[in-house]
Amino acid sequence: MTIPQAPEHIVVARTNIVSRIADAAKIADRKPDDVTLVAISKKQPDDRIEAMLATGQRVFGENRVQEAKARWAERRVTYPDLELRLVGPLQTNKADDAVALFDVIETLDREKLARHLARSMEKLGRRPRLYVQVNTGEEEQKAGIKPSQTADFVARCCDQYGLEIEGLMCIPPVGEPASLHFALLRNLAEQAGVSKLSMGMSADFELAVRLGATSVRVGSALFGERPAPA
Ligand SMILES: *Cc1c(COP(=O)(O)O)cnc(C)c1O
Repeated sequence: MTIPQAPEHIVVARTNIVSRIADAAKIADRKPDDVTLVAISKKQPDDRIEAMLATGQRVFGENRVQEAKARWAERRVTYPDLELRLVGPLQTNKADDAVALFDVIETLDREKLARHLARSMEKLGRRPRLYVQVNTGEEEQKAGIKPSQTADFVARCCDQYGLEIEGLMCIPPVGEPASLHFALLRNLAEQAGVSKLSMGMSADFELAVRLGATSVRVGSALFGERPAPA
């Protein structure tokens, strides 16, 4: 078998993002290795995903369970060192599928879901790492725990459902300075006693790294724009 070559533009894009993460980490007196690049592959065509795999990238994020399953179930076998993260909303009736497929679920955002995830983990004997999604902008239409309830919710996940929470995740409101939301998430993590912060996307990942992100979720800046739905 010949080793697939990544198209030049994907190699260049990834090298660029990796070095910008490293620079931002250094500015903040942090180690580049303490920041994980999560390549958000939702809606991206197959050839770009293959190209990204060929660069050595192994951590990927998806926002829909079914789409992720179709795309990654077989590749999991080919690439045993993959790490798959769910970064989109999870319905309780998909909890089993999500627990079976993902290594990290970043969108635990309500008690009912905590209960279903605990049940699925028990049933399947698999324990993905978990992040609580915080609605830092307290936006009506957005999922997530309210900032004021975050520490209590993290404690409840542990005490009530035996779930270990690894970190917090946020998606700042469009049109507001992201820095305020990143700083808030960091404070909330400290209060809640969790150490990981999933924050920062294509437009603001360097800022997020400077403010303490331990993983950044980068899609379009890595793969190119997502194709419009047909
Ligand atoms: C799509 C998505 C991203 C990546 O967005 P880009 O702007 O393309 O980097 C990050 N996080 C979440 C939760 C997403 O849904």
